[in-house]
Amino acid sequence: MGRRPDLITAIATAPGRGGVGIVRLSGTDLGALAATLGNGHPPTPRHASFCAFHDGDGRLIDEGLLLYFPAPHSFTGEDVIELHGHGGPVVMQLLLDRALSLGARLAEPGEFTRRAFLNNKLDLAQAEAVADLIEASTVAAARSAVRSLSGAFSDAIGRVRDQLIDLRMLVEATLDFPEEEIDFLAAARAVERMQGIERALADVLDRAEQGALLRQGLHVVLVGQPNVGKSSLLNQLAGHERAIVTDIAGTTRDALKETIQLAGIPLHVIDTAGLRDTGDTVEKIGIERTWREIDNADVIVRLVDARSGLTAEDRAIDARLPPGVPRITVENKCDLADLPPQRTDTDGATRIRLSAKTGNGVALLREHLLKLAGWHPHGEDVFLARKRHLTALANALAHVREAQARTTALELMAEELRLGHEALSEITGEFTPDDLLGEIFSRFCIGK
Ligand code: GDP
Ligand code: ZN
Repeated sequence: MGRRPDLITAIATAPGRGGVGIVRLSGTDLGALAATLGNGHPPTPRHASFCAFHDGDGRLIDEGLLLYFPAPHSFTGEDVIELHGHGGPVVMQLLLDRALSLGARLAEPGEFTRRAFLNNKLDLAQAEAVADLIEASTVAAARSAVRSLSGAFSDAIGRVRDQLIDLRMLVEATLDFPEEEIDFLAAARAVERMQGIERALADVLDRAEQGALLRQGLHVVLVGQPNVGKSSLLNQLAGHERAIVTDIAGTTRDALKETIQLAGIPLHVIDTAGLRDTGDTVEKIGIERTWREIDNADVIVRLVDARSGLTAEDRAIDARLPPGVPRITVENKCDLADLPPQRTDTDGATRIRLSAKTGNGVALLREHLLKLAGWHPHGEDVFLARKRHLTALANALAHVREAQARTTALELMAEELRLGHEALSEITGEFTPDDLLGEIFSRFCIGK
């Protein structure tokens, strides 16, 4: 059978073994192909038909279900066929080979979702939400991804965009009658409307920032001298044994990464190798890696012993920590120092006294980490946003603010509003350069 460049196929289910595995095909005019796969019986659209799958030589591959979704009522908006077989890697490969032998080619990463976008089944923010839902690492992240997927994020953007369009039309129309500019601004309540748009944008941005937090999490680095209790604290934060706790100095050689949940936010905690001068090569490598992790941290938690406080070595490390990254000093082993857990804030520096062994005071640290993350409860109204969305929203907001400073120069105001509109449209993909599209979809896995 001849090649059909528009016909794509891929295994849609995760690799490995499972009860069911799915091979998906998408293209145009797949009715005949669906009948071939269904052993000559044209399948009823959107109904599952039980079916024996054969290879090109007529040998039985598997028995399973065949589904046929004629355009436009399918995920991609094209004709789609799904072959549901038993979920083993060999069965899936044989079904995929069968699809390839019928003229299909392997789909590129994200190509199914890209077609859905191009056929207006999803806008760009929704397409991204497909990937984010699949990759969500906490329940809260999954909930906000599915909200974006269902269009709640796009709708919120759309409402602001419509207000912007209305205002732009007025401003542009008035540009043709320069003598009436001032009257126009007053009559159309242009300033109030811009303020309203600004408030709406700030609100969406805030909710998107919260969602971005759910998606990316917070990178927390634990630093401190060997034996100060870093591994113990990590175990307390994680709520189960993870790092190896020993009392021999220098045993935590690797940067250990653990992702735990704090109010649904993924917290990536990095337990660092003891930062000290050493002749040991393995330890040196660990220390180098530690410094790299520290440079990328959102928060640095520096541990000291509550009994001794900051040592000369701590001060030496301090001088090398990246400035500008929020820091918390944890005074650990308060049980040994015979002091109660406590939080103190002096000169913008926070110190939390606790015991990583008993867990006493660890809640104070959790609370403070959430606060530093900028987390505030928003109920269910958070949008799982990406960096790209935040940048576009912040740009739109900046242009709308700039427009308000241009009430005496209508042409400049019009231009700022246009730029704000353009920035917003990038989110849903109405105005998105092709290379950006390519980049977004190439990050999907194959089969999506
Ligand atoms: P790290 O080298 O900084 O990772 O330190 P560890 O977490 O491995 O702890 C070193 C030793 O100190 C272990 O024996 C821990 O049980 C002990 N330790 C850690 N935190 C505390 C604490 O708050 N109180 C007490 N009494 N012992 C602690
Ligand atoms: Zn908020």
